[in-house]
Amino acid sequence: MATPLSADRLLSALRAEGLTVHEHDGWRTHGRDAATGKAFGPVHGVLIHHTAGHNDREICYNGRSDLPGPLCHSWLGKTSGLWMISAGRANHAGLVDLDVINALMAEKSPLPHDDQANADGNDVLYGIEIENLGNGKDPYPTEQYRQAVLWATALCRAHGWTERSIAGHKEVQPGKVDPSFDMDIFRADVRKQLASKPGKPTTPPPTPSTPRVDLSQLVAAAKADPPARQGHVTYRAGVNLVEAALVAEGLLPKKFAGDGSYGTTTRDAYARWQRSPAGGGYTGKGADGIPGKASLARLGARHGFVVVA
Ligand SMILES: [Zn+2]
Repeated sequence: MATPLSADRLLSALRAEGLTVHEHDGWRTHGRDAATGKAFGPVHGVLIHHTAGHNDREICYNGRSDLPGPLCHSWLGKTSGLWMISAGRANHAGLVDLDVINALMAEKSPLPHDDQANADGNDVLYGIEIENLGNGKDPYPTEQYRQAVLWATALCRAHGWTERSIAGHKEVQPGKVDPSFDMDIFRADVRKQLASKPGKPTTPPPTPSTPRVDLSQLVAAAKADPPARQGHVTYRAGVNLVEAALVAEGLLPKKFAGDGSYGTTTRDAYARWQRSPAGGGYTGKGADGIPGKASLARLGARHGFVVVA
């Protein structure tokens, strides 16, 4: 629990961490507090997003037709640096899982699965939007990723938090996939930066990772989700990556993808992948819809994820 940093304290914390900070006109008083009648804070953590677009700084400031700005506290360009968008309440998190918020508050690790949308994350979370298409192919330049690590580190350091106060949007709100990099690696990079002096970036600079799918967690989902209630979730992040790949292969209708549940439709689609030449041409029990290492690695090679056991 903590009072949000004022605009001045935000700036000084970010600069002390070694960041160059650009200020959008009007950012100091740009917030949703007055419009919603709900003040920002107390704050419980830090949320990481990708924008799913390019050249979207002004969208993040002004908002969209369906969602008024600000849409984040800071916007981090691919090459145009870090920009301050708001020091108040911002429309970035939406409805999130209260269990995850409580875990962030208590700095518990690992975070529980986000299977509910029952708390307003905009009340309690700082948010950064990182300019990236978020398709797993659009790279995060090393300098951009380094700045994202410094941004999250600065807020944690200012509040006396550890890296366990940080989450990705995909970890707090069911159905979200951002950011497209691995949050465990991001938190480890923040931990390293927190252990060093502010303003002294850790070397070598952290680099973003290719998304990873954990085979054992995915197999557990493929076994647990189909017999459970509709929409049962065992391993949201990995299932979403695999379902997106199956959609791209034309094996799974899009409407069945993205809910994080490895249901019977996903299992049937995966079995079609196993039977396909590109998936390995398996037959019989080899094409039962339960992922194996070889067929999953083939899918990942075509769709931008790696398989870890
Ligand atoms: Zn997001």
